[in-house]
Amino acid sequence: MAIRKIINESDETLRKISKPVVDFDDRLFELIEDMKDTLAKAEGAGLAAVQVGVLKRLFVMHAGKEERECINPSIIKQDGINKIKVEACLSVPGKCGYVERPEKVWVEYQDRTGKKIQKKFTGFEAKCFCHELDHLDGILYIDRATKMFKDRDEYAKEQGKQKKDNSKSDASKSKNTKSEK
Ligand SMILES: [Zn+2]
Repeated sequence: MAIRKIINESDETLRKISKPVVDFDDRLFELIEDMKDTLAKAEGAGLAAVQVGVLKRLFVMHAGKEERECINPSIIKQDGINKIKVEACLSVPGKCGYVERPEKVWVEYQDRTGKKIQKKFTGFEAKCFCHELDHLDGILYIDRATKMFKDRDEYAKEQGKQKKDNSKSDASKSKNTKSEK
């Protein structure tokens, strides 16, 4: 097990299309274990093989309770609009942005033994799955972002503004309720 180097957006490798995994062997297991360690150390939610410079169609994610290893993944069906707007990427350090993703995805992938698995993910796991799947096709979230924040401070400011707006509307709501009474 080892920590691998995560490449960043300036590296052209991230723009390449990853190839399907065909050998479910010790080399693959080692790669998966390294990716899990690397993800944990970076405190991320997901990591695709291409982000450690390996052009294979697989990613690991830890966006819910369970850690998942998704090999040769695909989306079968999707539905709704994810309530979580903000997104970030270990290969685009510091920044974050708004990306629209489905609320629910029905997916298929293989585990490390090659067994096919079908799952339904919702919320953050659905968002993460879509983000990681994009990596395998050379797409970064910054390509899809409707709004980008140059750092966490800028995002926090935006959040603060929204909270203020929300509390304003809440206040007017309660006022209305009162006057209705
Ligand atoms: Zn990413």
